[in-house]
This record gives sequence, C-alpha cells and structure tokens, in this order.
Amino acid sequence: MTLSIIKPTLWRQIQRENFTSIQELSEFLELSEEHQSRIAKSSRFALNLPRRLARKMAKNTLDDPLFRQFVPLAEEELNSPGFVADPVCDNSFRKEKKLLHKYHGRALWLTTSACAMHCRYCFRQNFPYESAATDITKELDYLKEHTEIQEIILSGGDPLSLSDSSLKELLQAFDAIPHIQRIRFHTRFPLGIPERIDAPFLALLSGIQKQIYFIIHCNHPKELDADVIAALKRLSKLGIPLLNQSVLLKGVNDDEKTFLSLSEALINAGVIPYYLHVLDPVAGASHFMVEEERGRELIRYVQEHSSGYSVPRLVREIAGSPSKTFL
Ligand SMILES: *Cc1c(COP(=O)(O)O)cnc(C)c1O
Ligand code: SF4
Repeated sequence: MTLSIIKPTLWRQIQRENFTSIQELSEFLELSEEHQSRIAKSSRFALNLPRRLARKMAKNTLDDPLFRQFVPLAEEELNSPGFVADPVCDNSFRKEKKLLHKYHGRALWLTTSACAMHCRYCFRQNFPYESAATDITKELDYLKEHTEIQEIILSGGDPLSLSDSSLKELLQAFDAIPHIQRIRFHTRFPLGIPERIDAPFLALLSGIQKQIYFIIHCNHPKELDADVIAALKRLSKLGIPLLNQSVLLKGVNDDEKTFLSLSEALINAGVIPYYLHVLDPVAGASHFMVEEERGRELIRYVQEHSSGYSVPRLVREIAGSPSKTFL
C-alpha cells in the first residue's frame, strides 16, 4: 500500500504569517537596545513565532513567560557540559524512517518536522527528520506486523502541520489496523494556532472509529486564552479526552503561584494535567534547567492546594528505560 505524498500545506501559510525575523519581532515588542543585545545573534534553531503569541507578550521585557519559551536568548550559545544534540537517544529507536518504537504497546509516528512554533527548549530541535520519504508503506507494514502495538502516537514536529487530506489518509490507515485501539495526538497547535481546530478538521476526526486522545503542551496559564479554550472545547465535544504535558522551565513555570494557576487553568478548560517533564538536556537549553527536587516541591504545592486531578506526574526520560521514569 502506498499513500500519496503528505504535504504540509498549512505550514507554508503559517510561515508567511509567523514572526521569523528577530529584527521585526524586536520592533514589534519595542525592545530596548539593552534587551536586544541579550538576544542570540545567530541561532541553529530559527525563530518561528505565531503572531497571536507575540501579541500576548508584554512589551520591552525579557521576562515574559511566552517570550522566554519562544525567543532565542544569548544563553543558547553557551556550551554547557551534559547538554547534547539528542538527549533521549530517539534516533537509536527508529524502526523505520518515520517510526520510533521505544515503549511496549506504543509507537510514535514522526509526521513532519514542521511545528506551529519553535520552542527554545525542544529536545527534538536537532532531530534528523526524514523530509524526502513520503512513501509510508514500510511504516504501515511495521505497525501491521507488530500486533502488540495498541496505540499510535502522532508526534512531529507537530502532526497538525499536515493538511487535513494527509491526516485523513493516515488516520484511515490506522483505523484499518485491527490491533490499534487508540490514536494519540501530541500537539501545540491548539495553543499557537487555535483556528486549526476548524469544522473540516473536526469532521475528519469524527469519522475515525478508534479512540482519539489529544495531549497539548501548555507550560504557562497565559497560553490558555478564550480562543484557545474554545478550540479545546470543540475537541472535547467530540468525546476526545484532553491531557496536558508541561516541561519544567526556569523563569516560565518554576514558582508555586504560576504552577498552581497553570494546573487550575487547565482543569477549568477541561484538560487533565498528565506529565510534568524535567527538561531533557538538549544543547542550547541549559538556562531553562530546574532541578528535580524543585519539581517535587511544586507538585506537592499543587497537591495541597487543588483538586487531586490537577496534579501532574513528575517524569524524566532516561534513555534505555522501558517507560518514562516517575520521580
Ligand atoms: C514519551 C514517549 C511515548 C509515550 O509515553 P507515555 O508514557 O505513554 O506518555 C511513546 N514513545 C516515545 C518514543 C516517547 O518518547
Ligand atoms: S512544538 Fe514540540 S516539537 Fe515543535 S518545537 Fe515545540 S517542543 Fe519541539
């Protein structure tokens, strides 16, 4: 079976509308010269920022939690020991060009390298994505042969960078594999480009038999504005459970007040906090590192101040382990 070429058409539209120039963004955010001098001059991982996120950033400051997540600071150029290109050894678990099979029962499909936005702490920012291969016969054959795989995880980049027609082909192919029970999306689109969750996309999801899950990647309550919450509600109306995973990031969500309000904003939006990840030590992200013990304190704080289901699990990815490691 050969599926037709998967075209990231939306990606081209996003690229036109996103901020990709530091200069333009600095002007938009009215950054002082002193602040501008703290921004990375040349970055291996390009600036790529949806306009709506830039509009939510406070002017002339480096301390805004959205700014810190998406704008490259000079600290990225530091060479920090232990911070490497592929900290979780994803490449060694590659079974086919687009397929990672690391954990029992789940396989992860690398849909595309394209994302709604570029997050500075991304552990896959150096991943050698296969961009040329569009024939997915081998990947589908692998899934069919491995009957222990119950869940297919659509990751990326971001799976919602694909066009609806490409996603439909992919989802229908998974739907036709009897042992696959669940299809899980990992995406930041609802937070960056909520209009992606439109009627045609919802209709496409409604046509799929297998249980669908969405895991959004929200790190700060400011990401959850009214448009984002409305997009999430459109998904949950289809009976799609929504979960969130965050990365513990210095200067973004590593204080009690912010972390509690993140958890509460999530459950108020119908999203269950799933994981809090300790940062994967990817080169260029050392300034985001927060110690594990601090993560435990934050989790305890939420546990003592909010509903039981607002408490995520603190996890770390240790290469070679049979699952994420609970801390
Ligand atoms: C994190 C991850 C998963 C999913 O793990 P869960 O604990 O089920 O969320 C699956 N495959 C890979 C390669 C992963 O990195
Ligand atoms: S959306 Fe996810 S994959 Fe894309 S840059 Fe951000 S963290 Fe990385």
